[in-house]
Amino acid sequence: MSEDIERLKAERNQIVAEIRHLQDNMRGEVERDLEEGDPALYEREKNLALLQHLERELGAVEYALSLAEKGVYGICENCGERIDPARLKAIPQATLCLKCKTELERKRRM
Ligand SMILES: [Zn+2]
Repeated sequence: MSEDIERLKAERNQIVAEIRHLQDNMRGEVERDLEEGDPALYEREKNLALLQHLERELGAVEYALSLAEKGVYGICENCGERIDPARLKAIPQATLCLKCKTELERKRRM
């Protein structure tokens, strides 16, 4: 289980580093006056969307980390089955098994 914690912490560090990098980039851009249609404006909006995405990911990783610390990481929150280790390797912050995740996304679309 401590392996899981290590992997989640590594994932968290990586996301935090990406956020910092992005924020540094964006800070440089804010100094300039941007006009509609300016390619830099498009760039800034893209970065902002990416930043929001990273912050959501970070939240998910921190949540998974809290589960790992409680010793319940890797167990589907919906059905209680163990999550496929290959899935956890690909998406360390997953808290639902593939079956439940697929089901949830199908319901959301309806
Ligand atoms: Zn499940």
